[in-house]
Amino acid sequence: MNHYKHILLAVDFFEQCEIVINRATDLANRYQAKLSVIHVVDSLPITDAGYGADIPFNLDLTAELMASAKKRLAELAKKLAITEDRQWLEMGSPKTEIIRVATENQVDLIVIGSHGRHGLALLLGSTANGVLHYAPCDVLAVRLQDN
Ligand code: AMP
Repeated sequence: MNHYKHILLAVDFFEQCEIVINRATDLANRYQAKLSVIHVVDSLPITDAGYGADIPFNLDLTAELMASAKKRLAELAKKLAITEDRQWLEMGSPKTEIIRVATENQVDLIVIGSHGRHGLALLLGSTANGVLHYAPCDVLAVRLQDN
């Protein structure tokens, strides 16, 4: 069996993400694999006239979100000894960005939670589902309990 060489941990910083983090680090140790981490700041919706008044895209808020996400990601990366070139902070759709970064960086295993913020009503949350469908490599969806 081939060993995994490059594992991508997708972290949403929601409750239970520690379980996903622990599983990814454990696998990286077992396989002596490179470990990268990604966090995606969900892009804010820009409404069109169909919804009534336009809501302007708030650049200050976006910059603030990115800055605090960067800090959280850097703290986690430090704890896991992940160097800067293996930290991915992206903005957009989480599933799209996770797939893109995995594809562009020859990732051979993506580790995600079975659901985070979105998925309580579903067996798999929306990000988990999208990643499973479109990933270019294996995906481990770590089973998280509903609470
Ligand atoms: P969801 O399908 O959105 O409920 O989330 C399932 C899993 O996808 C989470 O446990 C994370 O591993 C990953 N995920 C969700 N949102 C993000 C995000 N914004 N950035 C990185 N990973 C995410």
